[in-house]
Amino acid sequence: MAEIGTALAQIAAEMASAEDRGAVATYIPQLGKVDPQRFGIAVAMNDGRVFAEGDADEPFSIQSVSKVFTLTLALGKIGDALWQRVGREPSGNPFNSIVQLEHEHGIPRNPFVNAGAIVVTDVLLAGHQPREAIGEILRFVQFLCDDDSVHIDRSVAASEQATGFRNFALANYMRSFGNLTHAPEMALGVYFHHCAFAMTCRQLALAGRYLANGGRHAGTGHTVISMERARRINALMLTCGHYDGSGEFAFRVGIPGKSGVGGGILAVVPGVASIAVWSPGLNANGNSKLGSFALERLAKLMDWSIFAP
Ligand code: GLU
Repeated sequence: MAEIGTALAQIAAEMASAEDRGAVATYIPQLGKVDPQRFGIAVAMNDGRVFAEGDADEPFSIQSVSKVFTLTLALGKIGDALWQRVGREPSGNPFNSIVQLEHEHGIPRNPFVNAGAIVVTDVLLAGHQPREAIGEILRFVQFLCDDDSVHIDRSVAASEQATGFRNFALANYMRSFGNLTHAPEMALGVYFHHCAFAMTCRQLALAGRYLANGGRHAGTGHTVISMERARRINALMLTCGHYDGSGEFAFRVGIPGKSGVGGGILAVVPGVASIAVWSPGLNANGNSKLGSFALERLAKLMDWSIFAP
């Protein structure tokens, strides 16, 4: 097995010379302005050590990676009742697909496709003003990574608010089945803002430690979520965390991960480490192209696949 610092330096060097870096997402206009040459990676080990390479301290738009944190909060808020409103099966469809909602009576396939995450956000909005719900999610993420500098990129949130027609369609459609309790513009206002959290790889890796650590916050030892729920979130990340490329990611990398269209991926090696990688160019499934390669290399070099004997 390689030494982690050496492995990361090797991977960063390989990624720096990669020619095909994928295509930056442009359907949210503000995301289309990001430089595709960027690459960063950070690993927060359960023993407290943190390793980083490349642009690991540059904030980027975490987008759908935020769905891991909102799912954690929603399970803390209403527990297993959440599963009456959201399924737990991979979708095999694009992240913003509407087709399965018709067959499944407005119940989204899982909490990581857009429709599922919008329902999760609706749960977090209950009893709050949108501003309070956004603040609660932001403070939770700041607590997880012990860093108050995590912030909302308001230009990204506004850009998506102005162009997120599909998400409005999903929200309205679910509301027609009675699976959205707030007005779509309220639930989506919160959703667009948590997708617009700006974080660095280092912050994101630190924030994900509880999932590598049986649900406990590594800094304080506080229980963020029960061990059983941490295990289940990891299972959902493995099966549903990469849209319709989830099977491929499990096949090639073999660890739970959640990607976002900003090019970030949060990956978890249970009992060992939390990893964040960022490279804005996406592959055909909307997952970071170099981020996926880098995780494949890292899992191999470190022997971190959860399927290894
Ligand atoms: N805010 C983005 C959307 O709803 C998130 C998509 C993603 O990262 O998968 O389209």
